[in-house]
Amino acid sequence: MIKRGIVMLAALGIIGCGVVALAQSHTIYRSQEECFLCGDSSNSILNLYDEVDGIGVLCFNNFMVSTLGVCKEEPGRSGSTTTINSSGDSGSIIKVDTNANRRFAEVDISLRENSCPDEKRMSEVMCKSCAESILQNNKYDVAFIDYKTREIIPVDETMHIFYRGDYVVYGVSSSEDSIKYLVFYAPEQSS
Ligand SMILES: [Zn+2]
Repeated sequence: MIKRGIVMLAALGIIGCGVVALAQSHTIYRSQEECFLCGDSSNSILNLYDEVDGIGVLCFNNFMVSTLGVCKEEPGRSGSTTTINSSGDSGSIIKVDTNANRRFAEVDISLRENSCPDEKRMSEVMCKSCAESILQNNKYDVAFIDYKTREIIPVDETMHIFYRGDYVVYGVSSSEDSIKYLVFYAPEQSS
């Protein structure tokens, strides 16, 4: 009887996975040409940053870019500013404190219940290839983005430091519900 129950559960599990796989296979993605990330769509908010040689923070689920205010081509920056972006639905909250005079920014990502990439939402603006790559490589719904190359740089608890162009990014602390980074404009000095 127990064995039959296990067989039943296994069968239900397979059916359950099958339903999920079926649902996933029915996800309709944008074409590559229309893709928010790799396409040439004039609707893409990323076009606004094409001339910015630097990095920002992208939320996959609401397609918002949190600018850091320390990049060379970001105009009119001075003093200290704070911006907050939230993807709603219990997704991540991204708080950026910028000191434009000193050219550094603190990025504080508050992790909540649904702080993970959402395939359905991404499919509304991305091609299948970009959405799948994000799902494979990102634990959270937020990542750094290189504006020029549109490369996604995942956020995680273990990454302590990385360099991107003229910028240095330090992971300074992480906990169950928060990851913090410091981003410095620090161009390499020519000798
Ligand atoms: Zn794409």
